[in-house]
Amino acid sequence: MKNLWNDAEAAAYSGDLGLRVYSSRLLGRDPSLVLHGGGNTSVKVRSRNILGEEEDLLYVKGSGWDLETIEEAGFSPVRLDHLIALARLPALSDMEMVNELRTHMTRASAPTPSVEAILHATIPHKYVDHTHADAVISITNTDGGEERAREIFGADCVIIPYIMPGFDLARLCAERFAADAHDGTIGMVLLNHGIFSFGASARESYDRMIALVGRAEDYLRRHAAWELPPAAPQAAGPGTQRITLAGLRQAASRVAGFPLLLCAGQDDRHLAFARRPDLEQIAAQGPATPDHVIRTKRIPMIGRNIEQYVSDYKEYFEKNAPRARDPKQMLDPAPRVILDPELGVCALGRSARDAAIVADIYDHTIDVILRAEALGGYRALPAGDIFDVEYWDLEQAKLKKAGNPPVFAGEIALVTGAASGIGRACAEALLARGAAVVGLDIAEGIDGTFDHPGWFGVRCDLTQEAAVTAAIESAVRRFGGLDMLVLNAGVFPPGLRIAQLDGESWRRTHAINLDANLALLREAHPLLCLAPRGGRVAVVGSRNVPAPGPGAAAYSVSKAALTQLARVAALEWAGDGIRINMVHPDAVFDTGIWSPEILEARARHYGLTVEQYRSRNLLKVEVESRDVAALVAELCGPLFAKVTGAQIPIDGGNERAV
Ligand code: ZN
Repeated sequence: MKNLWNDAEAAAYSGDLGLRVYSSRLLGRDPSLVLHGGGNTSVKVRSRNILGEEEDLLYVKGSGWDLETIEEAGFSPVRLDHLIALARLPALSDMEMVNELRTHMTRASAPTPSVEAILHATIPHKYVDHTHADAVISITNTDGGEERAREIFGADCVIIPYIMPGFDLARLCAERFAADAHDGTIGMVLLNHGIFSFGASARESYDRMIALVGRAEDYLRRHAAWELPPAAPQAAGPGTQRITLAGLRQAASRVAGFPLLLCAGQDDRHLAFARRPDLEQIAAQGPATPDHVIRTKRIPMIGRNIEQYVSDYKEYFEKNAPRARDPKQMLDPAPRVILDPELGVCALGRSARDAAIVADIYDHTIDVILRAEALGGYRALPAGDIFDVEYWDLEQAKLKKAGNPPVFAGEIALVTGAASGIGRACAEALLARGAAVVGLDIAEGIDGTFDHPGWFGVRCDLTQEAAVTAAIESAVRRFGGLDMLVLNAGVFPPGLRIAQLDGESWRRTHAINLDANLALLREAHPLLCLAPRGGRVAVVGSRNVPAPGPGAAAYSVSKAALTQLARVAALEWAGDGIRINMVHPDAVFDTGIWSPEILEARARHYGLTVEQYRSRNLLKVEVESRDVAALVAELCGPLFAKVTGAQIPIDGGNERAV
């Protein structure tokens, strides 16, 4: 366990709260300590209120903040005396607790304090740090975990049996602390949950956390349960998995009631885990720490039998729901982790970010399980305890409050020619509407066109069918399927009248503007058939289709043929629930194909100046890439749910086309 404290870095933070921010970020920087919003920290500060009176405040992590990126504004100041008084109540419901926390803050705009606020308040040390360290839960989640915890930490930590987070845990910790703590107590181990450290300074509390977790690592090392042997090289699954993956994603989305992304993790480590003969025994017990259930569900689906998973989930719900005080509303029963010997470790989520969080959490879960197995056997908490966290009032309330997800949440779009111009604008519009976007382009650097978890750029020559197929295969392994296809890539060759038009220039234009789209449509079709909400194709045509211009025969013919191809697809694929619509833009000058020379040449063809040429439409407006992109995105959305085979000009009005 590496201690990351650095005095020079720490000097940039001032005051008690500043140092609280610094050491919280140090904890957050190590994913083996806290993951994605897990863990919490606090500091007790005496300050003067507006009346000049001194009061003690607990600054505790607010909900919605991540330790890695927390700022002073992420800590909620709550009156300490009130929190300590609350801890003496015989009972307090979750909703009452949240009400007390919120009504005893001294900054109205602060986030809701962590549900562990009362626990932090009852610990009589200035700084309190709490993590869900992998090493600690690897030890406590075993047969005999409690004895091991006592052996390792008993001398200077209070040991707390598992109890659900919230008020009851705070009370129990306060009682045990009062009974068991002594001058040398530096921490508290919560079995099957995590660990607390505390101290008089940010440095002391942090150092103790690192030392305590280091002790757990040393214990694992001594028992040959720390260094996991590298996974043996695994034979890759079938070379073509896209239909299988998309089918699985469709099934999961159907039972969820909304589209989900599915990201297949297939390195040696993932495949080796998913192929273990004892997988059922070790992976079907429960999460490493209860709060993971919100992301991963209690257990992964092993294999591909969704119906069985759903019926097991319903059984788990029906068995545990009656114990709850309030009636519970069943969450969607779709798995969030799928373990399959051919497909590896698949993470599902409603956005690329959610799926990546699931994948991260499960990666750590694999480590925890394997280390606990090496120590004598992984033992997760009983299902009932996990249910209580999954269906916690506070989590249910969050769900009710959560607004509508973006229109394309959980869906995947593929855009060709996505590095610049209209294609790039389409990708941006689709990302903004919640889709994961696969961008194909021949341009270098396409993988970095957007810095967004939902972006997957693949460099690809669209005229090479094998490259297109490989790109689609990798896209499906990345996101699980294909819902929308935007055929945008195109070239606009230098103007040549037919009398001068050579065959090579004609064929090259057709190879990109037409032939590549045939291959894309053909390869995409089986995937679009498996789109949870039905597949959609948007084709970027051209004003030249209804109103061709002289000197652009190759371009106009290729776009007209593409339009005809799309119309036939609309006829052939309507029965598969796939909609295909076309846009015909004109005079979109912020694109790669409009070099100043081409612009000049086209203007000359019409006997216009470049300025006149730019706004030569009825409305006298300039049409930009993002205008076309917005229309493309809407064509894929609910507004056009009942439209297929349509051709929509987006050109400011053209007197030859209206
Ligand atoms: Zn915790």
